[in-house]
Amino acid sequence: MTTAVRPLIAGNWKMNGLAASLSEAKALAQALAEQPAATDVALCPPATLIAQMAWQLKGSVVAIGGQDCHDKQSGAFTGDIAAQMLADAGASLVILGHSERRAYHGETDAQVAAKVEAALRAGLKPIICVGETLAEREAGRTLVVIESQVKGSLPAPLQGAPFAVAYEPCWAIGTGLTPTLAQIEEVHVAIRRLISAQLGESGAVAPILYGGSVKPDNAGEILKVSEVGGALVGGASLKAADFLGIIRAL
Ligand code: PEP
Repeated sequence: MTTAVRPLIAGNWKMNGLAASLSEAKALAQALAEQPAATDVALCPPATLIAQMAWQLKGSVVAIGGQDCHDKQSGAFTGDIAAQMLADAGASLVILGHSERRAYHGETDAQVAAKVEAALRAGLKPIICVGETLAEREAGRTLVVIESQVKGSLPAPLQGAPFAVAYEPCWAIGTGLTPTLAQIEEVHVAIRRLISAQLGESGAVAPILYGGSVKPDNAGEILKVSEVGGALVGGASLKAADFLGIIRAL
């Protein structure tokens, strides 16, 4: 990782968490106030908790993010959330193009790119996810798939804007499986080359997060891999103690 890259460890709560879960977020913020982290830290709770979490963590180092947004600013899109609404609720980041959105909601690279532009217009920092399926990896297509997702999902307005990319092999998410460190490095180095060529300086300094079954006991070795600039963490971000174990591994 180049020194200019400021790492980010972000927790993706997915469709987990009720008001009672805010105690975990508060415990995390408290622990980071007592002992600061060597990384930026964010939590992306379900949309229902963003405003409450933002209020309760006001003044803390923990940034709040959404998990998706619509590409339009407003309109007849029942159930959707505009980027500006996330910002209005207290979010400063948003995860876009997560493999669960791509798989279960059929999101294409072009739709992800449109959402990224919407996020930027709303002043949100996008965390743009890419990753291959197991079939794609087994067919030796990982780098081809990643290149196509990076080219299609990261639009030109990212030049000059802060953003992060998350490399999340679909087969490693929530499975307990992780790629080898060499496989992680190969993809991260490829992503750095691609985004630097595509987006110049912004691409050279954007943190590239690894995501997929990161836990306190494997975080240390993963976070040391070249061009790994943090992590996107699902299951292990739900409990403050586990998430802190990952944050402290950096
Ligand atoms: C994720 O949701 O982005 C993720 C990486 O999940 P997990 O850490 O549970 O594999």
